[in-house]
This record gives sequence, C-alpha cells and structure tokens, in this order.
Amino acid sequence: MAGLNPVWAFALAAPAALVGCNAPVAPAAPLPAKAEVVGVLPGGRPEKVRLVFKQGVLVEAGGLPRAFLPKGGTDGAWAAFKELSPEGKRWTLQSLFPGDTWSRDKVLHRVRWPELESVWLMASLFMGHGQHYDQLQSANPARPEKLKAGDRWVIPTELLSEDLGGKNGEQVVRTQPEDVLDDEARVAAFRSLLAFEEDAQGKYAGYHLRKGEALYSSVVMRYTDQVDPQGVNDLAKEIALRSGISDVRGIQPGQLVKIPLEALASPFQPEGTVALAEEREVRAEVRRIPRVTVGARLKGVRIVLDAGHGGIDKGAMANGVWESDYVYDITMRVQRLLEQETDAVVSCTIRYPAVGFNPRSRIQVPSDQAEILTTPPFSNDGENPNAVSVHLRWVLANQLFSVFERSGDAKKTLFISFHADSLHPSARGTMVYVPGAVGVPASFTLPASRTVQVKELGAGSRVTFSPRERLQGEARSRLFAESLLTALQEDGIPTHENRPIRNVVLRAGKSFIPAVIRYSAAATKVLLEVLNLTNPDDAANFQDPAFREHYAQAVVKGIQSYYRK
Ligand SMILES: [Zn+2]
Repeated sequence: MAGLNPVWAFALAAPAALVGCNAPVAPAAPLPAKAEVVGVLPGGRPEKVRLVFKQGVLVEAGGLPRAFLPKGGTDGAWAAFKELSPEGKRWTLQSLFPGDTWSRDKVLHRVRWPELESVWLMASLFMGHGQHYDQLQSANPARPEKLKAGDRWVIPTELLSEDLGGKNGEQVVRTQPEDVLDDEARVAAFRSLLAFEEDAQGKYAGYHLRKGEALYSSVVMRYTDQVDPQGVNDLAKEIALRSGISDVRGIQPGQLVKIPLEALASPFQPEGTVALAEEREVRAEVRRIPRVTVGARLKGVRIVLDAGHGGIDKGAMANGVWESDYVYDITMRVQRLLEQETDAVVSCTIRYPAVGFNPRSRIQVPSDQAEILTTPPFSNDGENPNAVSVHLRWVLANQLFSVFERSGDAKKTLFISFHADSLHPSARGTMVYVPGAVGVPASFTLPASRTVQVKELGAGSRVTFSPRERLQGEARSRLFAESLLTALQEDGIPTHENRPIRNVVLRAGKSFIPAVIRYSAAATKVLLEVLNLTNPDDAANFQDPAFREHYAQAVVKGIQSYYRK
C-alpha cells in the first residue's frame, strides 16, 4: 500500500503562510485570467505561484530549491505543476491553497478561486489527472453544480496522486464503461456516473461530461432512447438550455449536464421507479435463464433470417447507399455460411427474383423487385408496402417455427432481421434491438386484409405471449445480442459505443418495438442495425463486399458462441 511517504514529513515543516497575494480571494468581476500568490520557501525566500485559467498551475522556477524541480531541472522561467517533484507539488498546493487541511486520511480542499478552479483542475492537481474527476465527484456526493468560494471538497488520501502519497497515477488506466463488454456491467457503470438532483425546474439526472464527450452522443444517445437525428438534436438543445450551456461546441470537461428524468431510458431511471424495477427483473432473468446449448454445427437449431425492406421500399438512404440491397446481401452471405458450416435449418423471409439467394460483389442500382416467401409469394410492390410486408415477415417466420416445433425444441428457434440505420452521423457501428418484455403485448391479432391472400395469414395472424414468455424472450435475446456484439468486436467490426443493445425504439416522440421482433414467436429474436448509413465510414463499409462477408462471418460466429456449451 502506498502510505504516507517522506513527503508528508516535509510538508508538515513547510510554512504555508502567504507573504502577499495579488489575486482576490473572493469572487470578483470580471473573471480573473489568473491568480498569483507568493509562497514562502523553506529557507524563507518568497516565490511566485500562478494559477492561470485553463493552463493550470505554474511556479517561478528561478529560485526554486533543486528538491522541488524534476531531476533534469527545467528550461523555462516558469515550471509547470506536473513537472515538479513530489516535494515541489506539495509546497505549491499549500502555497496556493493555505486554507486546505491535510490529514492522514484525506485532504480537505477549500475552493478559493471558483472562476479558475474546476473539478477537473482539482483532479489534475491533487489526483494526478483531470480524468480522475468522476472519482472525486463520487467522493463528494453533494456535488455542488458550480464551484463557490469556500466550498469544501474531500480528497481521500488513497485518491491522491502517487506524488502526494496516494495511489492514483498520472495515466488514466482504470477501465472506462465503454471498455466493458458485458452489457449489464456497462450500463451499471454508465448509471453510476449520474447523480439525481433538483433545481427550480424540477428533478433531473446530473452528468459531468468527460474529456472528449459531446452532448448528443455521450448524453442523449446513451442515457435516453432517442436515436434519430432530429430527436437527438432537439433533446440536446433542451438539455443545453436547462444546463445553462450557451455554446454546445465550447463545453469543457466536467460541465454539469441536466437530463430531465422523463427523457431517461429505463436503466437510468431513479430508484423506486417502475421502469427501473422492470429493467432489473429482466437483468435478473438474463442471469438465471439456462443457456440452450448445442454443438458447434448447430444441429437442431431453426433459424429464420429476414432482410429488411426490399422491392418498392428501399429503406434508409444516405452517402450514396441504401438499406435494402445491402442488408439483403449480408443476409444472403449469412445464409450461405450457415448452410456450409452448420447443420442448422435456415430459411429466409424474402427473395429478390433478379438476384436469387446469391451474394453480390457489386451493387449498382436499387433492385425494384422483392417477394416475401409466403404461399403464394407476396410481391413487395404495393402502395403501402411496409404495413403489409412487415407483418407478413413475422407471420411467415412464426409459421416456419410452428412446423419445426412439432418435432424440434422450441427453445432452439432464432429470428434475425437485418437493417441499417440512419442515426446522428456521429454514431457508428452495430446496434441490436431486442423485444423489451414490457412492450410485447399479451396477445395480438393482425386484422384481416382484403387484398392480401396468403396461406400463412390463417392461423398465423394471431400471437399470444405469457408474462414468462415475454420476460424470457427479452432475456434470451439479450444474451444472444451480447454473443453477437462480442463476435463483432473481436473481429474489429464497429459496434455502437454507448448502449449497443436496446429494447425499445424511440422515433418522433413515439416509443415502440419493431413488429418483426415484437410478434415473433422465436425463443430468440433480434433486429440488427448493421451500421449507420449517415456515418461516412459506415457507408463505405456497406459498399465493400469484403466487409459484408467479414460481417456475415462474425454473425455466424456470434450464433455459434450463443449456442456453445
Ligand atoms: Zn430498416
């Protein structure tokens, strides 16, 4: 354990009194660009210390004792705080902040220049790196949203930098939530960064932006279910206004962001809410549900693949690519690989007559014909194709599963619908939608259609789900989504950085579960948003047949690992 080293003994002997102070101690207007104090060195000599806005702390180097300087000395007239020896750092902090008390178990820091200080600065001075600031906030749960002169912040000794007798290094080595592969742990880590507070406008979840984070990607897309560009931008604006941020591009790390409670996704809702309780119930089910295992060749597994859109419906379009043909191509590659490498029984819901079930290396123009493989096939060329064909996909898949279940194990049924998204351009990579247990109805009957006559619509247009089936449906689908994302990540394929597994879609103010997974009778069912078309790098990947093949291989690996013993 890093105890209190000899620096401690020195610090006790060092006088920290000031002989002069050119900067106001109380907040003053206008904003001081810097504060300057004169500290007294051990021999009694005065020495200037400056705290400069956004530059940190500088010490006049000329008269500093050698013990305060780095081994190689310093070049300039002023030495930066981080260059100083442990003794030099300790002396500098005591000169700048004579009101701080240093005891064996903690430093009690009193904010002296609220205009110049920030939580980030405190973390960089006392803890070795500004990025440790969330640890500092956790140690000070009252978290005043804006520093005021005289505020007291506790820095436990173990959180101090190594130079000051603690354990924190100058490098940030701790794991970021983004690095955690396990979805539950990642979401819990994100949740731990929130603090529930109240202001004149009511309750909110407070989040302090970390270095390099932006409002729309790190707050809105992570903590809410909002993903479409307009919705994300609108909510980001609303949050900026509430948080007193006038220039979104000029946000500094450590900035407090206030997220209205009603905008929070379920896992981030406050303690005691129904949404959080439901979220925890699903997580518990994910942990206890027995895994369905089969051999690597997936014998006894029934898989239905669905390529989204097609025919008159091209899906999302951006950056010179469109959704339908490209997701169809990936689906064909997955089907071919499954047929070659496994014993699973595989079907597709849709076929492009001009292409057949073949992968293509070049996709030049949108295909205008596609048919859902019902009996007889339904050509996707109508006036309102989505309303009918979206339902026909799950009706057809459920029919295939019900035939399989006469002799096969219902737990070994898997449905995957392939799509691509058009999100905020900053987002990239795969996102997986699973059917949220609370959004799946107890029963649903597709209204009879006067124009569509296919055999599957008879018995297959009604579905029922018990509470247990809904819970297990989400739990199994989440487990599968994790296997899939792990396989993609292991192959270097981008996945959504914030919350790549979601159980609800929020668009234009409405939240819903896509019908293909909402009404799917498969034990495991996901809607895969392969990538984000509005992101240029993702769009380039989509056009690359090598990427599509690589992607299909990773999907097959994910399926195999999901069913692995
Ligand atoms: Zn789509």
